[in-house]
Amino acid sequence: MQAKDLLQLAEQFGNPLYVYDAEKIQSQYNRLTKAFSKVDKLRVNYAMKALSNVAILQLIKEMGAGLDTVSIQEVELGLHAGYAPEKIFYTPNGVSLEEIEEVNAMGVQINIDNLSILEQFGTKHPNVPVCIRINPHVMAGGNTNISVGHIDSKFGISIHQLPHLLRIVENTKMNIVGIHMHTGSDILDIEVFLYAAEILFDVAKKFKNLEFLDFGSGFKVPYKKDDIETDIEELGKKLSKRFNAFCTEYGKELTLIFEPGKFLVSEAGFFLAKVNVVKQTTSTVFAGIDSGFNHLIRPMFYGSQHHIENISHPKGKERFYSVVGYICETDTFANNRRISEIKEGDILCFRNAGAYCFSMASNYNSRYKPAEVLWLNGEGHLIRARETFEDLLKNQLPLPTAITTV
Ligand SMILES: *Cc1c(COP(=O)(O)O)cnc(C)c1O
Repeated sequence: MQAKDLLQLAEQFGNPLYVYDAEKIQSQYNRLTKAFSKVDKLRVNYAMKALSNVAILQLIKEMGAGLDTVSIQEVELGLHAGYAPEKIFYTPNGVSLEEIEEVNAMGVQINIDNLSILEQFGTKHPNVPVCIRINPHVMAGGNTNISVGHIDSKFGISIHQLPHLLRIVENTKMNIVGIHMHTGSDILDIEVFLYAAEILFDVAKKFKNLEFLDFGSGFKVPYKKDDIETDIEELGKKLSKRFNAFCTEYGKELTLIFEPGKFLVSEAGFFLAKVNVVKQTTSTVFAGIDSGFNHLIRPMFYGSQHHIENISHPKGKERFYSVVGYICETDTFANNRRISEIKEGDILCFRNAGAYCFSMASNYNSRYKPAEVLWLNGEGHLIRARETFEDLLKNQLPLPTAITTV
């Protein structure tokens, strides 16, 4: 996508605005499937929590992907978008037995991540094919909030509990068809990934009826120029070879599953916001935009550094800015960032705004959530309208008129 296209979309649909480039999502999907083309049965389940707009789900379905979901509502959205139940995986953490049973009744593959639920579910439904999420205790991931495989993590069944796990499976006679792990986001070192894979293979050997192995996700994507990213091609080469050897050893062609979120949609997203005010203080120059962490929380939440460009005046002299939002709380997108000289009314473009941006947006400060546009075949298509005042009032009920005093 080019700056002139983005400016035109901001003009047409207003700001702030999320724009997603369909072509980029497709090329990332192709990159991943190509890297693993030596694996006979490969399946990519899109982790929809990254970006859950129904049109995006439909687009990714057309590419041939399945879905990875973490809540019953995500399952329902997936079904609504047209995914067949057998194309949907459900990988929740800390949800009730009732919700798992409800999702199972929809024909969706369930994945269980603790022994308590495993025992209860297996006792009641011994014939249901179940996947088990293990925790390989590998420290991977960009920071502690997004590293989920380490020893203190709440995710997965610890590999140290394997004897207990096997006893439950034996006693309930439940049908374990898959083993899953997901060790965190932003994994750089493919050796760490391969090391965790060995642990998964070791666990897998203990189960006789497996159909698939799910390696989760966590691929790191570049955030700025010359930034490092997971070498998918290298991982593909090494892991495919190892996976195929494991299948030979296991005596059965298993399906290899990945569930990328960020990898598929992060770089496809652009967030556009207008500069309301340029405020020079004694120590810094603030560029205040018509948005805040209500629309893009990652910088405040994870310390994420989204690259920011002034697409209205890209060729100006570069100056240092603190880019801030309009929320009545510290609301900083970037500190001391070199950006082409900003004038009030300019449009700033935030890169990598596809994953965990709109999907984490809120109405804090009673602001409307932005509109979303899909850029497809050289044209912008509105895929979510900007909210209106009615949306803020939805589900709210006024004070009962009979009450006159507290
Ligand atoms: C969040 C999540 C993913 C996707 O992670 P990314 O880093 O966005 O690729 C995959 N699997 C599970 C179980 C998740 O919770």
